[in-house]
Amino acid sequence: MAYQDIAQICKNGHLINANSNEYPKDNSKFCRRCGEVVIDECEGCKRKIKGNYVYDDYFMPDEYVVPDYCEECGEAYPWTKKKKESLKDLLQDTDLSEKDQNDFMNYIDDIISENPRTELAVLKVKGILRKITSGAQEVARSLVIDIASETIKKSFDL
Ligand SMILES: [Zn+2]
Ligand SMILES: [Zn+2]
Repeated sequence: MAYQDIAQICKNGHLINANSNEYPKDNSKFCRRCGEVVIDECEGCKRKIKGNYVYDDYFMPDEYVVPDYCEECGEAYPWTKKKKESLKDLLQDTDLSEKDQNDFMNYIDDIISENPRTELAVLKVKGILRKITSGAQEVARSLVIDIASETIKKSFDL
């Protein structure tokens, strides 16, 4: 038998404890890396954030991947929102047109969520990135890579 534990994650997306029931001594109220508040549920629907599996007779620590969206209500977790906000902020300081900025952010949603449109979105985002003439281009690229999943990250290596 196995059950899925509850995860504690700080609002900046640092994993605090992927087994908060099984190993409560690792729980904390604030993040030891950044000082942010630690949560274990969706702020929208209050659904607990799933952690790692716990098995009856042995402990097998799986590598835990911090989720981007709540699987109950689909709302972006605070860390996902923050990453998108900083990207949006940065784009506003570039010479990109408003249309390019809006397109960019729409494609970013496809890049985060990995759906049938993701590959197209990667192509489009790379195209728009090339239009940024200032040093913001590199910063924007690294923010995109940070927000993308492991499989997508590789598409941005030049
Ligand atoms: Zn943190
Ligand atoms: Zn939710």
